[in-house]
Amino acid sequence: MSQEALITNIQRYSINDGPGIRTTVFLKGCTLNCAWCHNPECIHFFPEIYWKQSLCRQCGRCFDVCPQEAIQPPIALGQDKENAHYYKIDLSRCDRCMRCVEACIYGALVQVGEPKTVEEVLEEVERDLPFYLNSGGGMTVTGGEPTAFPDFTRELLRGAQERGIHTCLDTSGFCEWEVLDSLRPYANIFLYDIKCLSGKLHVMRTGVNNSPILANLRRLAECGEHIIVRIPVIPAFNDSPEHMEKVADFLRELGPAVMQVDLLPFHNWCHDKYRWLGREWEYRDVQSLPVSEVDDLLDIMEERGLKTTIGG
Ligand code: SF4
Ligand code: SF4
Repeated sequence: MSQEALITNIQRYSINDGPGIRTTVFLKGCTLNCAWCHNPECIHFFPEIYWKQSLCRQCGRCFDVCPQEAIQPPIALGQDKENAHYYKIDLSRCDRCMRCVEACIYGALVQVGEPKTVEEVLEEVERDLPFYLNSGGGMTVTGGEPTAFPDFTRELLRGAQERGIHTCLDTSGFCEWEVLDSLRPYANIFLYDIKCLSGKLHVMRTGVNNSPILANLRRLAECGEHIIVRIPVIPAFNDSPEHMEKVADFLRELGPAVMQVDLLPFHNWCHDKYRWLGREWEYRDVQSLPVSEVDDLLDIMEERGLKTTIGG
């Protein structure tokens, strides 16, 4: 039977997730919990609900159908309209039955994360085959963390390759080596995220130790895989020239397996997603990093012979 996973988005015409024009498949569920996360809807391993305040007409249908009394009546909103969504669904009572989503005819409530089989995903991905062939693109699997779903991810990558579609696997690398090793034959390119080299800081800001991540990257390089290293550049975390010099030295030691480094400057465009999920975000008031502020970091990489881009 075809494997199934929760998918939050199948994004067509993507140009920032590997070479050429690609379709990017987002899996829901992540083993890290990065404080700056740009895809907060992909962290939890269960379906969630977006409440889009601007579309809500306060009709009360969701309140009427909720069997758990998890939705507060509009009268409880008081004067604080801007932050009303933060306490409209009581997440401790909600059992994610999604009846409120079905009842909302205004599109204000949206289920985030739908179960899809590998076949269903591939059907959608295959539609753009001519674009992939013309542009040197393909499919990218990301999340969340695809290695948290090894069977699904393996079957998806293999199915794409069988259809003549180039594959990229975007991973934090935080998994058992055996999992990565089992995916190697089906990933044409690894998009491998590196956040910082300090173990202590890594635990503080992502929730996990970086030792297995760095060890797995070394092993992938020793195996001669094609690797694009992606570094989110986060203010006051990993954006100092001194730190980036250390990262560049580490990557240079890995040899020709590292085809490219993508620097991904922090942005706060995802703030709406946090609001729709009813979550606070400590980076909500942090300004997006202009590309010009990352230029020096790009120079550090290129001085060490690493082909580097500044991505979106
Ligand atoms: S059903 Fe939709 S529009 Fe009506 S109150 Fe609920 S969220 Fe708002
Ligand atoms: S998902 Fe179900 S339990 Fe949760 S708020 Fe909606 S109707 Fe209530």
